[in-house]
Amino acid sequence: MSWLSNLTPPGIKAMFRKPDDAADSLWVKCPGCGEMLFGKDLEAALNVCAGCGHHLKQPVEERLKMIFDEARYAVIDVPPPPEDPLGFRDEKKYIDRLKEYRRKTGRPDAMTAAVGAIEGMTAVAAVQDFEFMGGSMGMALGETMIRAAETAVERRAPLIAFTASGGARMQEGILSLMQMPRTTIAVQMMREARLPYIVVLTHPTTGGVTASFAMLGDIHIAEPGALIGFAGPRVIEQTIREKLPEGFQRAEFLKDKGMVDLVVPRAELKAALARLIRVLTKAGEQADGLSRAAAE
Ligand SMILES: [Zn+2]
Repeated sequence: MSWLSNLTPPGIKAMFRKPDDAADSLWVKCPGCGEMLFGKDLEAALNVCAGCGHHLKQPVEERLKMIFDEARYAVIDVPPPPEDPLGFRDEKKYIDRLKEYRRKTGRPDAMTAAVGAIEGMTAVAAVQDFEFMGGSMGMALGETMIRAAETAVERRAPLIAFTASGGARMQEGILSLMQMPRTTIAVQMMREARLPYIVVLTHPTTGGVTASFAMLGDIHIAEPGALIGFAGPRVIEQTIREKLPEGFQRAEFLKDKGMVDLVVPRAELKAALARLIRVLTKAGEQADGLSRAAAE
């Protein structure tokens, strides 16, 4: 900082400051139709384009507020795993990268687990954050899935995972790959407790996440237009040297092929989850019993 900038009054500094993230998100270009969308309107529309229905990425907090009653939930505490055990460095040190993303997102890592109520029924949600290093799966994510499943078992509640990921976190090497069996164990805990595990696949869900907990749900819901696959379409095309069919690896295509059970628009997601939880648990029977008793 030069002596001149020390002398400049804050008002003038603010005029020349580079636009920050908040200013960037004032207007967003829809990747579907190219229309410019006003940030506030977009947020009110659950980050779905009013023009073409394209589902843009939904921030973690907004997603949790959307699915839980009265937008109320409690984030589940997760003990932090050892940081940067490999002392990894590419253009930047991994530890610095982590710090940067924590500052940017205000979250410790790429998955947040929370407990709340969906239409009166207790539920646990584990939401992956694509903004945090591409939603990559490292030790912290594995730990969060385990804690989420443990909480669900303690509360006899369903677990809903919202996936969005580029895959395993290369900065953690083999330790990131170990999260595939670890998250599978979390799913197994749900199965042993005979509690529902529902997966909501959002754009994009790829790599090691698709190869583990994202594809092990009792029910798989996908958001419209979401890309879901292991390797990306370009890699596959180059490998097999064939043109891929229209809509390949998209939610609707995968539903036609039986890989996905439902494609649900965001505005209808909460109601769909509530309906599924009711069907899959005793809570439904009890709630129905009560309303029948009240009606009689
Ligand atoms: Zn659009």
